[in-house]
Amino acid sequence: MARGAQKEQARQKAQKEAAKRAKPKSQLGARSAGLQVKCPTCFSMMTTYKLLVQHMEAKHPKDTIPPESNFIKA
Ligand SMILES: [Zn+2]
Repeated sequence: MARGAQKEQARQKAQKEAAKRAKPKSQLGARSAGLQVKCPTCFSMMTTYKLLVQHMEAKHPKDTIPPESNFIKA
């Protein structure tokens, strides 16, 4: 009888932990630091370097992705 509830509890716990891991902490940090990443090919603005990499892979797969250090403000 308790088996079902235990299973449900375990499922909820796993969900909670997955949500914790998925929280984009770094995005907040980049925004507050005023980091702006611009696509060198189409000049679209990205909020994070990770987004730029995804964008480049999707939209300009033939172009070279610039290194992250290009976008870090001194
Ligand atoms: Zn682009």
